[in-house]
Amino acid sequence: MSALKELWIATGNKGKISEFKVLLNRELPGLQILTTSDLPTYTSPNENGQTFLDNARIKAKSLKAMKPEAWVMAEDSGLEVLALNNLPGIHSARYAGPKAQDRENIAKLLKMMQIRAVTNRMAQFVCTMVLLTPENQEFIFTGEMKGEIAKAPLGQLGFGYDPIFVPENEKQTLAELGPGFKSKRSHRAMATLQMIEKLKTQI
Ligand code: IMP
Repeated sequence: MSALKELWIATGNKGKISEFKVLLNRELPGLQILTTSDLPTYTSPNENGQTFLDNARIKAKSLKAMKPEAWVMAEDSGLEVLALNNLPGIHSARYAGPKAQDRENIAKLLKMMQIRAVTNRMAQFVCTMVLLTPENQEFIFTGEMKGEIAKAPLGQLGFGYDPIFVPENEKQTLAELGPGFKSKRSHRAMATLQMIEKLKTQI
């Protein structure tokens, strides 16, 4: 395989980028991290897959089409609420509509749980990551984090559903616990650390 000097990540999500960089900069300090925000001509593909893996592949391939020689990574992640049949799941980013803001998605989720008088608030975040080598070999990594949905948003840190997710064995939401906690315990951290082990064999 070709030597690894830079990694292209198929996301423009600032929250995700900052979480990836915490781990990648610590574990692989010489590796340059570039994202689709560094590619002005990139347009996001239609994420019309049926699974997290489908959508991670769609994103990885769309970036690979523009950067065929590069190491490319894409991930798809979301929140599965047990009592809502694992929704919002792959629809997490757009649960309240195509251009929904995080606070609108949170409001919809809390409303759905209220309408259905949900008592079991168990949920999990899941992450599926696809790494493509310059030779287009594919590696898949996954991670999950179990927890519960809080009754109301709390905390200012993070992104997405962080203000309403209380991880297992914790009393605060991810938005209160902050990036230090997520870098050790999150679904994205679990998948990223597996990918890092793979990348370390390439440096
Ligand atoms: P994606 O960019 O299509 O993978 O969308 C993932 C969506 O899932 C995000 O926009 C968030 O709404 C949600 N999500 C994924 N990971 C996290 C997380 O770590 N914290 C909070 N929300 C998350």
